[in-house]
Amino acid sequence: MTRPATVVVDLDALRHNYRQVRHLAPGCRVMAVVKADAYGHGLTTMARALSTPGNGADAFGVACLEEAEALREVGIGQPIVVLEGPFERQEVPRLQQLGIGMVLHQAGQLEMLGGLLPSPPVTVWLKVDSGMHRLGFPPAEVAAIHRRLLAHPAVGEVRLMTHLACANDRDDDSVASQIECFEAAVRGLSGERSIANSAALLAYPRSHADWVRPGLALYGVSPFPGERGPASGLRPVMGLHSRLIAVHRLQAGDPVGYGAAWRCPEAMPVGVVAIGYGDGYPRHARSGTPVLVEGVRASLIGRPSMDMLTVDLRAVPGAGVGSPVTLWGEGLPVEEVAECADTIPYELLCAVGRRARIHVRGAEKE
Ligand SMILES: *Cc1c(COP(=O)(O)O)cnc(C)c1O
Repeated sequence: MTRPATVVVDLDALRHNYRQVRHLAPGCRVMAVVKADAYGHGLTTMARALSTPGNGADAFGVACLEEAEALREVGIGQPIVVLEGPFERQEVPRLQQLGIGMVLHQAGQLEMLGGLLPSPPVTVWLKVDSGMHRLGFPPAEVAAIHRRLLAHPAVGEVRLMTHLACANDRDDDSVASQIECFEAAVRGLSGERSIANSAALLAYPRSHADWVRPGLALYGVSPFPGERGPASGLRPVMGLHSRLIAVHRLQAGDPVGYGAAWRCPEAMPVGVVAIGYGDGYPRHARSGTPVLVEGVRASLIGRPSMDMLTVDLRAVPGAGVGSPVTLWGEGLPVEEVAECADTIPYELLCAVGRRARIHVRGAEKE
């Protein structure tokens, strides 16, 4: 038996979620965000599945040039946008050559456009800081920068964007303030607009504008604390799976794992699963975190180690070596596991290491 830790990604679920996004933001263009290896799902696999001619994403959002190059290398021809823009001057001609749009969020990046040849024309996304105070120009500077960019010989289109800090709260007053701040800053300026990440797309229709920029929702996961993807009509794309590699019958009081962090309250079966934090499973998941063994809910006990974790098998007494285990996916939302590990599903998905083998389910093309 080869090491059984595997990631399964379901392309049919991905395309279902993509259609759901289209349905929820009718008339909007969709920039599918595939940064961070498509949130751990496999950058090129996800992008190709969303590249169906006639029904593909209108653009892909990535974090950096290297991710954009990886997409071009596998033949992705759609527009691509580097969401943090160029990090240094040398990247700019390369981005231009590959037809990759750039977010511009600070003055140094405007300087980097300096020596560009006039063609091919580049699309730039002028980022406005509407109140999150992470990236973007102050609203008062936006009109002047917009004018300067339009006058630049290499700049084709200038688009306008911002990012919301609190859209994952369905009822947060700052969302409206940020949208109003953005709208005021760009009033009268030409160019397509974009505001919404997944949470804004799902909860704040007013943020839809010309382009929506979903990441998490495409992978079938809810950005809202306490909610699950299916409540928004989404299906999980990733399943994280492994198998039991040992089963023990322990006695009351027996400790389990590093630090003897958990002790058996009674005589009971305990299983060892071949998956751990080296595969991206969160080390801080609490005892009691649900785990599916043969499809039945069991509980994590003790501390996950690098390659293994232990589970209470009292709910699945028939389980033995080789029994299949699901850490998250269909039947066990990653949102729930994230809550048990005091984190957000984004972090769990991104942490799934390249170590695990990725298996692709569903048709490559529609
Ligand atoms: C990552 C990112 C997104 C996608 O966010 P989700 O919450 O995953 O939908 C959208 N816009 C920008 C600028 C981003 O960096």
